[in-house]
Amino acid sequence: MSNDSCVFCRIVANQATANILYRDQQVTAFRDAHPVGPTHLLIVPNKHIDSLNDLQDEDEGLMGYMFAVARRLAAKEGVDQSGYRLVVNTRSEGGQTVFHLHLHLIGGRHMHWPPG
Ligand code: 5GP
Ligand code: ZN
Repeated sequence: MSNDSCVFCRIVANQATANILYRDQQVTAFRDAHPVGPTHLLIVPNKHIDSLNDLQDEDEGLMGYMFAVARRLAAKEGVDQSGYRLVVNTRSEGGQTVFHLHLHLIGGRHMHWPPG
């Protein structure tokens, strides 16, 4: 299921341009348009899911797979040893602005905890 008004669905469908690094039957990974670190990738399911709140039980394997892809891309980007952060912003207080589930992979600089 894809949603014409959703920017990430449009990237998955090649209807909008993005710097795509990886794509398979289940997920697409591309560089964030406004990176907050030297490495900032987004890993998204190819099918539209609004947010983590909308994940169905049958999608739990998909979420695990997104983490596996993130782990491989972190190594490919050369940030696996220095370290990186995976983030899923959910709804307004979580800072979600694009309502198509996505995993941020951020690395290449030191990050503090807790976030602001
Ligand atoms: P959120 O705030 O929803 O967790 O993250 C959405 C992310 O998507 C932001 O970091 C933003 O920079 C990125 N983004 C929004 N629109 C586009 C786009 O059209 N292309 C790309 N590559 N990234 C986008
Ligand atoms: Zn979408």
